Amino acid sequence: MPERSESESRKLLKRLRDSLAVPGKGQDRLDRITSLIADSMGTEVCSIYLFRDSETLELCATEGLNPDAVHQTRLKLGEGLVGRVARSAAPVNTGNAPAERGFRFMPETGEEIYSSFLGVPIQRVGEKLGVLVVQSRNQREYSDDEIYALEVVAMVLAEMTELGAFIGEGEALSAKHTQPVLFRGNTGQEGAAEGNVWLHEARVVVTNPVADDPVAETERIRAAVLQLRVSVDDLLSAASLDKEQKQVLEAYRLFAHSRGWLRRMEEDIGAGLSAEAAVQKEQSAARARMEQVPDAYLRDRLHDLDDLSHRLLRILTGQGKDTGAAMPENPVLVARNIGPAELLDYGRKLRGVVLEEGSVGSHAAIVARALAIPLVIHAERVTTEALNGDHIMVDGDQGIVHLRPEATVAAAFRDKIAMQAKAQERYASLRGLPAQSKDGAVVKLQMNAGLMADLPSLESSGAEGVGLFRTELQFLIRNQMPKRDELARLYARVMDAAQGHKVVFRTLDIGSDKVLPYMKPQDEPNPAMGWRAIRVGLDKPGVLRMQLQALLRASNGRDLTVMFPFISEQHEFASARSHLLREVHRERSLGHPVPKDLKIGAMLETPSLAFAPRSFFETTDFISIGGNDLKQFFFAADRENERVRRRYDVLNVSFLNLIEQIIQRCAETDTPLSFCGEDAGRPIEALCFAALGIRTLSMRPASIGPVKALLRRVDLTAARRVIDAARAEGAETVRPAVLDWLATQVD
Ligand code: PEP
Ligand code: MG
Repeated sequence: MPERSESESRKLLKRLRDSLAVPGKGQDRLDRITSLIADSMGTEVCSIYLFRDSETLELCATEGLNPDAVHQTRLKLGEGLVGRVARSAAPVNTGNAPAERGFRFMPETGEEIYSSFLGVPIQRVGEKLGVLVVQSRNQREYSDDEIYALEVVAMVLAEMTELGAFIGEGEALSAKHTQPVLFRGNTGQEGAAEGNVWLHEARVVVTNPVADDPVAETERIRAAVLQLRVSVDDLLSAASLDKEQKQVLEAYRLFAHSRGWLRRMEEDIGAGLSAEAAVQKEQSAARARMEQVPDAYLRDRLHDLDDLSHRLLRILTGQGKDTGAAMPENPVLVARNIGPAELLDYGRKLRGVVLEEGSVGSHAAIVARALAIPLVIHAERVTTEALNGDHIMVDGDQGIVHLRPEATVAAAFRDKIAMQAKAQERYASLRGLPAQSKDGAVVKLQMNAGLMADLPSLESSGAEGVGLFRTELQFLIRNQMPKRDELARLYARVMDAAQGHKVVFRTLDIGSDKVLPYMKPQDEPNPAMGWRAIRVGLDKPGVLRMQLQALLRASNGRDLTVMFPFISEQHEFASARSHLLREVHRERSLGHPVPKDLKIGAMLETPSLAFAPRSFFETTDFISIGGNDLKQFFFAADRENERVRRRYDVLNVSFLNLIEQIIQRCAETDTPLSFCGEDAGRPIEALCFAALGIRTLSMRPASIGPVKALLRRVDLTAARRVIDAARAEGAETVRPAVLDWLATQVD
């Protein structure tokens, strides 16, 4: 930016700051600012539009337009040129506004006489606050320097808004972060929670957006960037990093060393911003770009830049990650995303978790489930809206979050929590009782687990052992491959906790969505159908054998149950089984105790296995239906894809016919069968599976109570008749018939 305009811009910012330092009402300040900007930029009009709600912009102050239009003129997001600036978070610059696409004539403002228009977003780290506009009569486009100068001013306005400088009467001038906000996300883990926000990444507050001494500020930013670079270099030289982690960090390092980034921030400082405000200005610009980028890889890189900006701000402000703020009571964690190890560190003290990103199958979701903490994912913009300590209510069942809820909403929500607590009490009273139906069928209810955090649930849920222990979780939450002895100790603790009940250890199911941080990621077009689970185990048997040895050592002569995941063909099971038998032989020859009774089973997760030769059913000691994967392959609907994952129902007759066929084939060979996908934990689904003949269901611990309560209430033979009748009538799904029938069943 040229010297002349640099000093002009600094002068304007100084005047702005001085005018804001004068005590006064928010409206007066806005009025003063618009005339200051118009004067300094030599334009006839300067207007400030602020959001009154997430969809509506309101003209809040103007120099040059009809003053009667202030607080009267409103525009929807995307409407007119002002709405376009807000939606795109990018400037609109035109010499002939009325001829511009989307121009909307607002007669009450008297703006028709102004031909040229320049609008820039007022935004703060991704939070859209409003639009700053200048207009002139003569037809001309504004220069790059003028656009830049206005953006710098908008940046200062954004910071001042955050600091509450413009608070006044009316919605648009109401204090930020005080209104109730409803977020509609998706369910990560069911349950309801009430508490107070605890931000994983504390908000950094910049109290000095304008600085007088650009030389001193430039020195500050250079020193901070240097410190940042050293810290990233230190990370990179850490001995424990493997090649892939290094590659990721290299990309991070490139940003830290990017000349363009530092140059832009130095320019911002030259224009009058403080070092902190310069970082935030570039961070806001990066965030705005992030929203426009469809490419996931590039978006990740922009996230890197976002993270670096955060680090830089913390260095500059001295506000470390730990800001010294005390965690509120009943904390609800709010974050853009979080890793499984970090979530485990917080542990059970959290009441709930709300994430902007994440996925149902993410490791964080798995941990939240193990900890039985309600989790809502995809709550867009929650980190920008929420402040530490804000009152928050999390509805994990509906995927809804109420931030700073109104009293009536809070009351209704509390009723819901109270009802759930009552139901929990009822379930607890069933803990020692069997899941026995009215007609005498007994269904074994086991729990799914994978973390040490799951173990207390063995006692509290009344589970009859662990029907699925997902061993990969122990690998996922570490930074490096666990050692055999460490695993052996851990598996032994799981067996101890089960107190003689069976634990079905599933060997590593990695690949697809479960990528180990220390393993080379595979660039596969369709990872769910790619190199995963037993396919990896058989192709690279080193880890599989190490794990099998750990299991054998953990059993220390006790009974052991091992299950191989994602078997598609009989020979895969045969190979995996012989690996295990070879390890048993080896242990024995080393003089180590071997399991008294060893059961080796397969997970049925691909439709192909249902049609395997009879000899497969004869050689497996048991089969467990992995309904999550089986469903996704049966319906060809990605379980991770929000658009399709709920589209198909397991109570669809086609799926039930498949289940029935599996039941029959297992019955013919006396092969024990269980179901361990998520649907086993849904009461209606569990009832139908049991009615078809499945006698072992494995589910998350919190589902055992509701499933048991329903199974004890019903006659499974009668349920079977209802299912058969619906099928005979040609229904597509048996769900309505079963629900109608259930409604007629009295306790
Ligand atoms: C399944 O696919 O149903 C299953 C239980 O395994 P996971 O969810 O771990 O893939
Ligand atoms: Mg599976």
